[in-house]
Amino acid sequence: MALKLFNTLSRSVEEFAPLDPTGKQVGMYCCGPTVYDLAHIGNFRTFVFADLVRRYLEFKGYAVRHVMNITDVEDKIIARVRAANVPLHEYTSKYEQAFFTDLKTLECRPAHETPRATEFIPEIIALVEKLIARGLAYQASDGSVYFSIDKYRGCGCTYGQLVKLNFDEQRVGERVQSDEYAKESVADFALWKARVPEDGTVFWPSPWGEGRPGWHIECSAMSVKLLGPSFDLHLGGEDLIFPHHEDEIAQSEGAGLQAPGQRFVKHWMHGAHLLVEGKKMSKSLGNYYILGDLVAKGFTGREIRYLLLTAHYRETFNFTTDGLLSARTALGRIDDCLVKLREVAGGVEAAPDATLVQAFGGALDHDLNVSGAWGAIFEWVREMNRQLADNSLTAAQAAAALAAWRVVDTVLGVGAAPEAEVPAELAALLEQRVAARKAKDFKKADAIRDELKAKGWVIEDTPKGARLKRL
Ligand code: AMP
Ligand code: ZN
Repeated sequence: MALKLFNTLSRSVEEFAPLDPTGKQVGMYCCGPTVYDLAHIGNFRTFVFADLVRRYLEFKGYAVRHVMNITDVEDKIIARVRAANVPLHEYTSKYEQAFFTDLKTLECRPAHETPRATEFIPEIIALVEKLIARGLAYQASDGSVYFSIDKYRGCGCTYGQLVKLNFDEQRVGERVQSDEYAKESVADFALWKARVPEDGTVFWPSPWGEGRPGWHIECSAMSVKLLGPSFDLHLGGEDLIFPHHEDEIAQSEGAGLQAPGQRFVKHWMHGAHLLVEGKKMSKSLGNYYILGDLVAKGFTGREIRYLLLTAHYRETFNFTTDGLLSARTALGRIDDCLVKLREVAGGVEAAPDATLVQAFGGALDHDLNVSGAWGAIFEWVREMNRQLADNSLTAAQAAAALAAWRVVDTVLGVGAAPEAEVPAELAALLEQRVAARKAKDFKKADAIRDELKAKGWVIEDTPKGARLKRL
């Protein structure tokens, strides 16, 4: 079945067809984190959404080339670097590392390329030069280089492809409120920012003097270099639609790099925000959760991933710890079913049962309808449990069911091994309890059992020995 995705460019659900004439290769760019601090799980909603897109395209047989940039130079970063009085890279690298660790915890497949803006300064300068040569950018009296929206529109290009803009309204009386007085027009945006004393040691030489790139040009330069002047998919959170993505289009198409009739990006996808009590989760509102804090509270990466994957990507939803507890219960139902299926299957292997895979794909083909996909999975769990209770499943049928789960889990990435999810310190406690029992120290063994229970785990005796199970 054909995959259909909502395209912000056309504001409609369209059939996805890659630019590649063989229909195989897909170029996908997702705007990455600004590494000035730890990312919060609102940010990770967007990256888990991008991972779902990537995994589903791979499930459909496409060869995806996934690029995610690291914004490692920008106003907030410079302010922090100054306060911390450390070199730029030393400051950003610890947040970059933490970000990659969190992505791993959330089972996101690593992007094939993760370019840093600071390593693309020559490409950024070349792109700005091209825009100046084409008459679309100018150096202002403050030394910075700006993109001229008027000139761009004057060439017949549309500024406002992803959003509807009212240019007359935008101009009235706005100029004085702009902190960049040197701009010709308030709508113009900086491509290259001239060095100011507050930048400290963060600057590069350029044909326009020392300075640093604007944020928007970074993504244009990196995506065009790594995926070509026209590529298939560009993703980000919905707050990036304007001005970031609109400006990326203006820069990349303004530079005239595309073949006639081609656009910078064929398909734009934007994920809705994760909210807290109805408000966007954000650093500025202070209503955010860091992944590490949730893990310290005993939640696992797969539970958080599951929760982030329960809502359709174009719908906002509220993050709550109750939501995470429901995610735990739902995953527990899947895990219990898989454990029983494994017992029946024994060592038998079989081809995946098509029923689950088809129902799952049928839902996701329709603009990644995850509710439909989870519906298909829980319907399957119910049916499997019924047949397991009747003892009506053969080993081959159970093996086919397990194989089907493994196929759908290549997309969901929530795994299936509760044993693997036991935190190391709890596994160590379990071992101590086994040893205490062996030594007939039942008081200690009971105390450990109670401690584990207080942490939400029960001990189950299996033929292979004791194992921990979530309460
Ligand atoms: P930043 O590190 O601020 O550049 O943001 C990285 C990504 O997280 C961007 O794609 C943002 O759109 C996205 N983002 C920021 N806040 C949220 C939120 N509350 N929910 C979902 N995505 C978000
Ligand atoms: Zn970007």
